[in-house]
Amino acid sequence: MGIQVSDFGKTADGTTAKIVTVVNERGMGMEVTDFGAALVAVTVTDKNNALADVVLGYEDVMDYIRNTGFYLGATIGRNGNRIGGACVTINGQDYPMDDNENGNNLHSGFEGFDRKIWDMEILEDELTVKFHYHSPDGEQGLPGNFDVTVAYTLTNENEIRIHYTGTSDADTIANMTNHSYFNLAGHAYGSIAEHILWLDADAYTPVDEKLIPTGELRTVQGTPFDFRTPKKMGLDIDADDEQLKLASGYDHNYVLNHQDGQVRKVAEVSEPVTGRVMEVYTDCVGVQFYAGNFMNSTLIGKGGAAYQRRGGFCLETQYYPDANHHNHFPTSILKAGQLYDTTTIYKFTVR
Ligand code: BGC
Repeated sequence: MGIQVSDFGKTADGTTAKIVTVVNERGMGMEVTDFGAALVAVTVTDKNNALADVVLGYEDVMDYIRNTGFYLGATIGRNGNRIGGACVTINGQDYPMDDNENGNNLHSGFEGFDRKIWDMEILEDELTVKFHYHSPDGEQGLPGNFDVTVAYTLTNENEIRIHYTGTSDADTIANMTNHSYFNLAGHAYGSIAEHILWLDADAYTPVDEKLIPTGELRTVQGTPFDFRTPKKMGLDIDADDEQLKLASGYDHNYVLNHQDGQVRKVAEVSEPVTGRVMEVYTDCVGVQFYAGNFMNSTLIGKGGAAYQRRGGFCLETQYYPDANHHNHFPTSILKAGQLYDTTTIYKFTVR
């Protein structure tokens, strides 16, 4: 049990990035880096007590810098997911952002929080690593000095708790998420198709051909999107469905059934061979289920692993994508002086 800090390689300007290894009293491990405040590894036992690393990641910081576009394990901010037309409107004023995908903004553009070195504070007794970043007024095109903290805690109940807090001195967008790709059979295992998913959502937000929500909240009933009864991720993923075709598989925001601001269980994934189970808890209103459709085996991760298409899945807790352009979506605007405060927990068990 304890926390250890090591070097994780140098960034282009010669800054040494750090990697922090946290181990709890049950022997579960978590590794995080100050580059992108990213989750690099999660080592957890299976039903036969065999340890494996279930989070996709890279060997050192240079690989994180080189591989843009996949966001392995990264903290995404100020805004996770897509913004149509790469422009938001706040208090009647337009704020253009980077167009980094088909005329839209994805994950805050070319210089998101995933590309920054964060300040780091270690709370040894609490098995917590706290990252802080000051985002100056105008960064990413957005108004307000936004000060944000992401605290990762590994509990002795085998939970990874991610707690985001932030404040801004002007109204701005705050919609942080974590972009970890999981594979409960081990990060280098291959396809996630056999993983069984339960998702507490009666509806999802369908998208257009550029993956921007149309504004509709569509029932999952009778569609491949229904995970209210646990189902293999791979069962319907290539079904003849317009929405699956647009995104090459699941890459959609689910409208969570409970939206009262309480941290609740919203999803569970189990992997039948290893018996590993991951539960997801959050107080967010939405979760993007991304099945890794755009990955390909040129993506080389830890230990030389080639991360194939659909070799990991993401459950990104957040506001609905493009919330700024749909008045009936919960707003992702953070008012000046108000506290942004949200928690997501990934909890590991075996069955
Ligand atoms: C998006 C995907 C995208 C991936 C990596 C996910 O959050 O939903 O469409 O390909 O991030 O960029």
